[in-house]
Amino acid sequence: MAEIRLENVVKEFGGGEQAVKDISVTIKDGSFTILVGPSGCGKSTTLRMIAGLESQTSGNIWIDDKNVNNVPASKRDVAMVFQNYALYPTMTVRENIEFGLINRKVPKEERKKLIDEVVDIVDLRKHLDKKPDKLSGGQRQRVALARAMVKKPKLFILDEPLSNLDAKLRTQMRAELIQLHKRLGTTFVYVTHDQIEAMSMGTDIIIMDHGVVKQQGSPMEVYENPTNTFSASFIGTPPMNIIDRSNAVNVLQDINDTIQKVGIRPEHIHISTKPLNLAHCIELSATILSMETLGAETLYQVKTDMGVMNVRSFLTPLSNVEEYFISIPYEKLFAFDRNGDTIKAIVFDIKEEPVHVFN
Ligand code: ATP
Repeated sequence: MAEIRLENVVKEFGGGEQAVKDISVTIKDGSFTILVGPSGCGKSTTLRMIAGLESQTSGNIWIDDKNVNNVPASKRDVAMVFQNYALYPTMTVRENIEFGLINRKVPKEERKKLIDEVVDIVDLRKHLDKKPDKLSGGQRQRVALARAMVKKPKLFILDEPLSNLDAKLRTQMRAELIQLHKRLGTTFVYVTHDQIEAMSMGTDIIIMDHGVVKQQGSPMEVYENPTNTFSASFIGTPPMNIIDRSNAVNVLQDINDTIQKVGIRPEHIHISTKPLNLAHCIELSATILSMETLGAETLYQVKTDMGVMNVRSFLTPLSNVEEYFISIPYEKLFAFDRNGDTIKAIVFDIKEEPVHVFN
């Protein structure tokens, strides 16, 4: 078990560019914390500094109450799992799992017991005598996990561990990692650029962009209460529609001066072939630019007086007609200021009767 604290952590690789800019976050003991953000945002560097593989330029890192600034990686009691698994090709599964224990001079009997404990958890008992090239991608990933687990670390660090797997296996391994985390109760810190992985696995998400933390919270907190346009559009598929004030005023008319952008999630927009006349909604006419039928849901891209918007609908795909209507509930609108920060106190001027804005 471990709580990790980063205080004003900065990483410069030279040339004056900061890969990580003054980050202060707490990773809760026992959490499954996901560092998520676009490529180059500094998430792997942050993870590597926690593991001790990279030293910070300034700032402090604590694991539990111990300042680990000068503690080498090997002494941090951290186990790591990477994208490329880093298995030894000439060793069997058993030898791969055992290797770290031999290095730590764990006696043979104890090693056998520890391996015995983990192989069933990762379902590798049948494969103990195989070499990695005889295993599937998912099985190799499980060997890497077993090798980490057998050390009984107080912290697991995982850097994009599923990115080499195909989509189906990734979904399966996601579920396995959630169960593994529950079973072990150990803190997991996991890096990914994939917001679906972040939402589905994390108990906590840290959203990063350009070396800074944009938001930290549970998946539902960041989905329901994004604190800025970056988090709002990073979490959710398709991303939130962010409408510039110049387009929003056409429809919302007397909106507060501080509102520079308005947001609405695609799944909160209703789409229909006839006006719906829903209370507390703005109704707009729309034309369909594209339509993707995915089975359980349909994604539309529509053109309206508020600009082009993505709509996600779980109803039967609509028939092909000239004119469509979208309804936007006022209570689902987000407002952002000129810095892109969410304005919490703003209540839109909600009209009881439906507001129609038809051409
Ligand atoms: P990705 O998802 O592509 O791995 P990331 O969010 O993990 O990206 P980092 O790998 O942490 O990002 O990189 C952050 C920034 O630091 C990038 O601009 C990268 O080029 C730079 N960087 C990372 N490692 C080094 C290094 N060893 N030397 C110089 N610059 C580096």
